[in-house]
Amino acid sequence: MKKDTLVGHTGRNPLATHGTVNMPVYRASTIVFSDLDTYSTRPADDYKTPRYGIHGNPTNWALEEAVAKLEGGHNAVAVCSGLAAIVAAICAFVKAGDHVLVADSVYGPTRNFCNKRLASYGVTTEYYDPLIGAGIKNLIKSNTKAIYCEAPGSLSFEMQDIPAIAREAHARDIPVLADTTWGTPYFFKSFEHGVDVSIHAATKYIVGHSDVMMGMIVTNERYWLPVRRTVADYGYCSSAEECYLALRGLRTIGVRMKQQMASAIKVAQWLQTRAEVSRVLFPALESDPGHAIWKRDFEGAASLFSLVLKPVSRKQVAAFVDALKLFGIGSSWGGYESLVTAPNIAPLRTATRWNADEGPVIRLHIGLEDADDLIADLQQALGRMTQAA
Ligand SMILES: *Cc1c(COP(=O)(O)O)cnc(C)c1O
Repeated sequence: MKKDTLVGHTGRNPLATHGTVNMPVYRASTIVFSDLDTYSTRPADDYKTPRYGIHGNPTNWALEEAVAKLEGGHNAVAVCSGLAAIVAAICAFVKAGDHVLVADSVYGPTRNFCNKRLASYGVTTEYYDPLIGAGIKNLIKSNTKAIYCEAPGSLSFEMQDIPAIAREAHARDIPVLADTTWGTPYFFKSFEHGVDVSIHAATKYIVGHSDVMMGMIVTNERYWLPVRRTVADYGYCSSAEECYLALRGLRTIGVRMKQQMASAIKVAQWLQTRAEVSRVLFPALESDPGHAIWKRDFEGAASLFSLVLKPVSRKQVAAFVDALKLFGIGSSWGGYESLVTAPNIAPLRTATRWNADEGPVIRLHIGLEDADDLIADLQQALGRMTQAA
């Protein structure tokens, strides 16, 4: 089956659910058993049959099956947020005395977790240049237990050569973990590119409607039980109601993402023509340094990118952002609506240096609105920025 057919057909079985097209919401904490023997001998490592609410229910399994199949993984688990998925995935592989390598361009709260929590558990995090590729081998130590990637980088969109990193990692039997939220299971086949454990903020494109917090971890066969047991040990779970909404969102991920990608490219190309803009950071653009890797490894692009303005005052940046009428000011992305933020990247870097003197960074998420309306909105807002000088 091609992926668009798969998106519509996996994770549901109408004839098993009274003919309903969609998998119903199975709300459950307690699951009851027919007899004591069945209850007492329920298999601890089987996370896909009814045991107790925290280990899932048929609605969750439907979503998990659909996402795992679409991405080409062995199995998946849904948890309460993208950050919880990151925490559980990392903690599945480390103990006191271990070392992990994490991309310097990683999502800010991942860095925060590594610096605050992992450090206090006795695990050392070493950040690496996201452009390192096969050079990662020079940083691997005898106690390195995981290599963590995120491509493209949060806020700054550097593309990573994940297959090159994975070759070095696998030669030393080290698992590759990757935050693949931007690529999504629709546009990035993680497991064909050397990822062992793929982490999604399903909150973004999988849910797609800005109304559910959810994380998902998809793994290959080898790392399924270590990851799934860790999720269980931490007590992380997601509810049937949330999984129902995520599965409903997933059904339209193809049309949403193709449309949003086309609009994002149109808006990004327009921004490249503007005198106020120094650079657009978006691997889907031919001029982007990561374009070749993106084209080789990805089947499409998310509609999230950044731009670097030429130097302007903080007041002018605020005048620009505040003048936008169609872009909400707020965190997150992957929904149907456009968003804007003005991130400060330099303090989030330790292995590389972010040149803040180049100009302020603006991150845009392009929604399903008409791209020409978005361009007109950006145009009037750039005018207000210039007036505020
Ligand atoms: C939003 C985000 C997360 C975290 O997801 P939440 O569901 O908000 O916790 C993780 N990684 C990336 C790249 C994100 O953008």
